[in-house]
Amino acid sequence: MKTETGNLPPDAGQLAAQWARLRARLRDEVGEAEYRNWLRQMVLQTVEGEVVLITLPSRFLRDWVRDHYGDRLRLLAQAEWPQVKRMDFRVSTAAQAAAQPVPSDAQQEVDFGMPSEPSNATASRAFANPRQADPRDGEWMAPLDQRLTFESFVVGKPNEFAHACARRVAERPAMAGFNPLFLYGGVGLGKTHLMHAIAWAIRANHPERPVAYMSAEKFMYRFIGALRGGNTMEFKAQLRSVDVLMIDDLQFLIGKDNTQEEFFHTFNALVDAGKQIVVSADKSPNDLSGIEDRLRTRLGGGIVADLHATTYELRLSILQAKAQQAGVEVPLKVLELLAHKIASNVRDLEGALNRLVAHSKLFGRPLTLDTVPEVLNDLLRTHERRITIDDIQRKVAEHYSIRMTDMFSARRARAVARPRQVAMFLAKQLTSRSLPEIGRRFGNRDHTTVMHAVSRITELMVEDRVLAEDVTLLRKMLET
Ligand code: ADP
Ligand code: MG
Repeated sequence: MKTETGNLPPDAGQLAAQWARLRARLRDEVGEAEYRNWLRQMVLQTVEGEVVLITLPSRFLRDWVRDHYGDRLRLLAQAEWPQVKRMDFRVSTAAQAAAQPVPSDAQQEVDFGMPSEPSNATASRAFANPRQADPRDGEWMAPLDQRLTFESFVVGKPNEFAHACARRVAERPAMAGFNPLFLYGGVGLGKTHLMHAIAWAIRANHPERPVAYMSAEKFMYRFIGALRGGNTMEFKAQLRSVDVLMIDDLQFLIGKDNTQEEFFHTFNALVDAGKQIVVSADKSPNDLSGIEDRLRTRLGGGIVADLHATTYELRLSILQAKAQQAGVEVPLKVLELLAHKIASNVRDLEGALNRLVAHSKLFGRPLTLDTVPEVLNDLLRTHERRITIDDIQRKVAEHYSIRMTDMFSARRARAVARPRQVAMFLAKQLTSRSLPEIGRRFGNRDHTTVMHAVSRITELMVEDRVLAEDVTLLRKMLET
């Protein structure tokens, strides 16, 4: 580290002392809470000539500190280093962080307080505007899939209401009566597709409005990460600075009390500020068990739109549209057969069509009715075969070398309780049984026990690689 005056670098100890003094003055000026929320994570990198270089761990914090405290910091810096004319704020990279020339405050407290609401749109746009491509965006916001637009969404009786609502929200976000928009329906019926379509349309029609889309799971991991990292303030501020917040698959928040609470506060803050919320889930607000009543009430307070199971007609139209998009000739008879045979959801339907198309391209043969069973044989079969809770219990017990009876017993030892939870988790994932039904099949347990097992295993699969592999393996064995 050099200064203008000395040929010898001032010793690091002196620099650290100056930096500590500067921060103490700043803290006195802005107050403890504000300092902790925004400024604590500053790291002094260098004082070189007229320039002081400070880094912050995210682009969001960097912009915020520069815009709100830049001048103040420059004056304070000049008191320590009179030659200084300019402050340079950068996002710290891993390498810089590792070097840690002069650290931020040693104590990293976790702050659970309420956020000071950011009032400045520039700071928020830095992370929420898709046009400012920043690899950091991906850290907290899920990327949008280019294929999922209104143009590629086929409308039919089962989804026309949900589609119409989605269109309205995309045209006029936060319109009275349409906030929140709650989309629900079974797997693969187009909820995520509609949400992405809304986001794309808002980005096109209202580029100045920051839109954030993420899965509820991602929301949870981000929130837990922020709690651990002691930067909940930043997380809250990011969330509250968007114009449109979309949370996909809300059912994942069931049983996650802290996260649910955080979502509830975010939800209220945004709706009260006239921002649009879009939520999807596998059930209606009334049928989502395990969420707090006050959240349920708010979720149902706007418009609730159901994506119904597909009809034969809709499936056929979707297949025709997809074949056309792919630019392949598929005989109508083949499409009809698929629409008949694969009635579960659109995702499976798409998968089947893709496979047929790939096959015909690979072998340069036209698609005929005969190719279908040949190519889709396994797919058509799994659709007929049902996995039972009994299969699951047997396989899981076998895998963990425990007795089948331990699946129903009251024993709580980890060695049997964990496999039992895995089995409950798989029963929820692989069968259409309800939570109470599953509970009954595991020695008459309560549905909340099953719910707990499902969320516990979901969580553990993130941290525990071995468990995640076990579950994947068991699932494969059961599905084939
Ligand atoms: P969900 O989120 O409800 O589980 P998705 O939105 O992920 O379902 O849809 C599954 C797949 O089916 C996606 O590839 C999506 O593009 C497609 N899909 C669903 N509904 C339609 C539709 N009406 N028109 C075109 N594609 C659809
Ligand atoms: Mg989805």
